[in-house]
Amino acid sequence: MITPRTIDFSGAARLDRRVVLLLGALLAGCTTIQKDSIALVGGNVLTPDNRVLQDAVIIVRQGKIEQLVPREGFVIPRTADVVDVTGRWIIPGLIDGHVHVERWALGRYLAAGVTAVRDVHGEQDSILDLREQIGRGGLASPRIFSAGAMIDGSPATFSNATEVANATEARRAVDSRAVAGVDYIKIYTRITPDLLRPLMDEAGSFNLRVTAHLGLTDAITAARLGVSSIEHMSGVPEAAGSPDRFFAEHRASFWRGWTYFEKGWAKLDSVALNRVAVTLANAHVAVVPTLVLHDTYSRLDDSAAINNPDVRSLPDSIIRRWDLPGMVARAGWIAADFPSFRASRANQDLFIREFRAAGGRIIAGTDASNQLLVPGLSLHRELELLVQAGLTPVDAIATATINPAVLLGGDSLGLIAPGRVADLVILRENPLVDIRNTRTVDRVMVRGLLYLADSLIAAQ
Ligand SMILES: [Zn+2]
Repeated sequence: MITPRTIDFSGAARLDRRVVLLLGALLAGCTTIQKDSIALVGGNVLTPDNRVLQDAVIIVRQGKIEQLVPREGFVIPRTADVVDVTGRWIIPGLIDGHVHVERWALGRYLAAGVTAVRDVHGEQDSILDLREQIGRGGLASPRIFSAGAMIDGSPATFSNATEVANATEARRAVDSRAVAGVDYIKIYTRITPDLLRPLMDEAGSFNLRVTAHLGLTDAITAARLGVSSIEHMSGVPEAAGSPDRFFAEHRASFWRGWTYFEKGWAKLDSVALNRVAVTLANAHVAVVPTLVLHDTYSRLDDSAAINNPDVRSLPDSIIRRWDLPGMVARAGWIAADFPSFRASRANQDLFIREFRAAGGRIIAGTDASNQLLVPGLSLHRELELLVQAGLTPVDAIATATINPAVLLGGDSLGLIAPGRVADLVILRENPLVDIRNTRTVDRVMVRGLLYLADSLIAAQ
């Protein structure tokens, strides 16, 4: 049973506070004061300047953060419903920057502290319907931002993508998405620079950002043409080395392109990698590395890695639907491929460090709920991998809070500050001393509604 703490905005909330107090006094013993807000009292709060305000009070009203103040000397309004969070750690709600959202996973995202997801492809109508339904309230769910269905070149990799073969079709695909109300555009591996140019032009006229999983366009070319973000660090090896062989493999098939790309990292030299990192950072292109995807698929020869606790938390029906052996067969992977994938991990981490050092914006993303990528929990693994790559815990938290908020244009998301929406996570342990502590979710607040993580898990 999901039991959000709901606030009654009727009547009393609009009364003068003295009247409410008088009524409260008169009715003492048979009723309580109407509550119009929540006071989270005693937590250690991560502030917008990356400091910790200890023993703080957060006042939440009508879905927004109204105040963030030290408890000492602060008089908690009597109309506030007090929640004691003494000794807890409070961070902004987490945002998964790369998902394929599915209805069954909504509660799982929330239970893991994920209060918003950036969906980058699916069945357009059903996802946009789900987004509307969630926007109206009443469903325990993260906020959904969505690209709808992605746009691919010819032949399209997925049947539910929109295939475009020329400039006119590329423009038309953007137009139809603008009408449908997507939040941004997602392009896929078979988009060439010749298709990307008119597509960017059309997206610009609708003020829609474009994010790219690149194949036939290298990352620097895509940046020059104006994409806002790059998924999976795609197009980076192509930009750092000689791209022709990569492009031939991407043209041959999606999986041949992916496999060659994934192995290609190991052969890159660090000077070339640094040049790409600096160029992309200077172009203000955000990168969504999805390290958890690269890392997980580099260990498919290790049964313990496959059967990790995050995966085991899922119902068997999902694991069966994933059909991991079927995916490996389609990819054509054999045992010898996995050590090659693992050999690329060091250069992927190096790229992350250099891109960050150059001032680049990194976004945590998981690719859930694709095979072995678990809605909610895999985002914590992504944060762990980003720290292993060289980010500090506070930097890693930014990749799942303020950085995606900026990319999404969600001015109100990503920080705990007055005026921002009340999306936050209450943790039992300090994530700044060990990033794995982001997993210790006690309660989650989204749109000002407070959920116990256990109740969300029990509801699944
Ligand atoms: Zn994806």
